[in-house]
Amino acid sequence: MSRKYVIAGNWKMNKNPVEATALINELKPLVADASCDVVVGVPFVDLPAALDAVKGTRIGVAAQNCHWEKSGAFTGEVSAEMLKSMGVGYVILGHSERRTYFGDTDVTVQKRVRAALDAGLTVILCVGEYLEQREQGVTGEVVAMQTKIALGGVSEEEMARVIIAYEPVWAIGTGRTATAQQANEVCKLIRETIAGLYNAAVADSAVIQYGGSMNAGNAAELLAQPDVDGGLIGGASLKPADFAVIVKAAE
Ligand code: PEP
Repeated sequence: MSRKYVIAGNWKMNKNPVEATALINELKPLVADASCDVVVGVPFVDLPAALDAVKGTRIGVAAQNCHWEKSGAFTGEVSAEMLKSMGVGYVILGHSERRTYFGDTDVTVQKRVRAALDAGLTVILCVGEYLEQREQGVTGEVVAMQTKIALGGVSEEEMARVIIAYEPVWAIGTGRTATAQQANEVCKLIRETIAGLYNAAVADSAVIQYGGSMNAGNAAELLAQPDVDGGLIGGASLKPADFAVIVKAAE
């Protein structure tokens, strides 16, 4: 089964619009020949600048969250419809920083996934265990539960617009990467969970990324794993040369 690799950057709360344009302009020639899909996940205020900067390239633009309602009294929120209307293609949902600091739960992640798919966006759905959960031997249960709840109500056809990012929370922004074997083991488990929810064909074609301190030095080994189909990259995505090395490693 040949799946397309997707390398996505999560800039988190970094870069203003001017800096975003500069970063993308630096990145463009470095990934011009990429055979994988390349996506940059930028803060809301950078979306217009990023969409403008990627024009004429194959680089996709992601938002880092969206609300589940189309509009209404939700001060400070941005809807999936709003993102779609401006030309955004992707949205990162359920990132552990949203779950840890901003109260996202499996249920609200499910609602966001539903809204994003209804609006026509492609979702990058993040799942992953805390260190304590890994140490207690419940990684599989936690990740399977997060995956099942988030995908509740998502149809087989819609799964073509769902990318899953396995991001062990203990590896995010810590410099501590999962071993290639650990990453593959959980990505495989997610694939089996998808097979259980849908069927083998949906599971075989699902893009499952690894995220958590992936960098220019360790990307090749992680991406060589049979069930790892790409990466969600935080820190290293802010350095165009490093991000480009990761994109190359996916080829
Ligand atoms: C992330 O933010 O999704 C992430 C994986 O961050 P980092 O690469 O910095 O660990």
